[in-house]
Amino acid sequence: MLPPVRCFTCGAPLGHLWEEFRRRVESGEDPARVLDDLGVTRYCCRRTLFTSITYIEEIAAYHIVRMRAARSTGEVEGVVEE
Ligand SMILES: [Zn+2]
Repeated sequence: MLPPVRCFTCGAPLGHLWEEFRRRVESGEDPARVLDDLGVTRYCCRRTLFTSITYIEEIAAYHIVRMRAARSTGEVEGVVEE
């Protein structure tokens, strides 16, 4: 899933908070405290940020491997590698 752009329930914009939230939580800060610092007070918005899992980077890695394999077998033409 991609990072949340808006809260799924109330529609409040959250996309601008995602990177800082993720970075601080991954560095070991308490998620509740980070959400408080970011001014996210609604439960629905806190849930949206706290429960979001982004795996686009992992999927993209497999896509590249799959495209390379398909290209080597001639299955796909015109694939642009990065
Ligand atoms: Zn909300």
